[in-house]
Amino acid sequence: MKNRRKLRHIRTVLLSLTTVGLFCLCVWLFYQGLFEQDGAAPLPVSEPSSRPTLEISSAEPPFSIASSNASQGGADASLGEPIPMASSAAPESALAVSESAAVSSEPAAVSSAPASAAPPAPASEAPAAPSAPAAPASSAAPTTSLPEIPADDPYPDLYVARPEFIPHQDGDKVVYLTFDDGPSNLTIPLLDVLDKYGVKATFFVVGKTSEEDKEALRQTAERGHTLAVHSYTHEYKQIYASPRAFLDDFAREYALIKETTGVSPTIYRCAGGSVNSYNRDTARSIAEEMNRRGYIYYDWNVDSGDAVPGTTAEGIYQNVISQTSRYDKAVVLMHNSAAKKDTLAQLPRIIEKLQAMGYRFAALDNTVAPINFRLP
Ligand code: ZN
Repeated sequence: MKNRRKLRHIRTVLLSLTTVGLFCLCVWLFYQGLFEQDGAAPLPVSEPSSRPTLEISSAEPPFSIASSNASQGGADASLGEPIPMASSAAPESALAVSESAAVSSEPAAVSSAPASAAPPAPASEAPAAPSAPAAPASSAAPTTSLPEIPADDPYPDLYVARPEFIPHQDGDKVVYLTFDDGPSNLTIPLLDVLDKYGVKATFFVVGKTSEEDKEALRQTAERGHTLAVHSYTHEYKQIYASPRAFLDDFAREYALIKETTGVSPTIYRCAGGSVNSYNRDTARSIAEEMNRRGYIYYDWNVDSGDAVPGTTAEGIYQNVISQTSRYDKAVVLMHNSAAKKDTLAQLPRIIEKLQAMGYRFAALDNTVAPINFRLP
């Protein structure tokens, strides 16, 4: 009898303990749930700030460009020289992106190490929304005067007054589609696609001189896109030998564009991107010399991968959509050489998707603060 009572007592105690334990577990789970929800919120906020560097490190512009050259065809086939990355420098360290969101009267600051070491600057001001700049540059009022031109300057005409950058407005989702290495037989079909959607884009062009190519240049300008200098020769060893060598090549392409279309380009993109293994010693001095003359260069923060060997048509589409979705201001690297049929074929899908995601499209001009890699 005594034993049975004792047993019942123990059972009651055990039951009570279990009940209390279960209650505690429920309370713990409840609070755990709350904390998880609270903890989840900051994630999306903290992610983008760490993404630009990751993104660009995977973009590997030098490799992309190397393959783009190989596919230029015709006279450009000789340009198909791969750019091996310098083994000493990790690409990601060199390719941090900087966006000069702040209006600066000194664009060198855009590409200087201190400015670019920081994550993209938050848009501080909320000025009037930037208008979609369709016309090839020079429409905004110049706010910088030309520097004094040395008497022995080999290119006294290669100076341009540069307007202030129009700050990117917070929440303005804008995509700058850029096409390198044209013109080609695919340029006019590409222009037709852009026209169909009312999209303006930027063409960084090379030294192609056939009548067909010149006609493509003319139509690019006439249809309201920005014509900009890429390179005449696209020969890395040659153009990155010195600031003078770079300027010689720039001047040749500049003259071709101007004589063919009447447009005087004010912006450019370096062959292989502003930082590559051929210009470790000259990238900064080249940028400074071109900046002194008032010309602005643009790298990119979205790489379509269309110059990366093995990228499928679907891959091009996915690259552009997934990378662009991380930015409010996206500069998209694509190519328009004769081999880039997949890029052309994917363009309607890409435009439609980005429009559905709330982006507008605009052409670059020198009022748009550039997105640049960090100079060595
Ligand atoms: Zn190129």
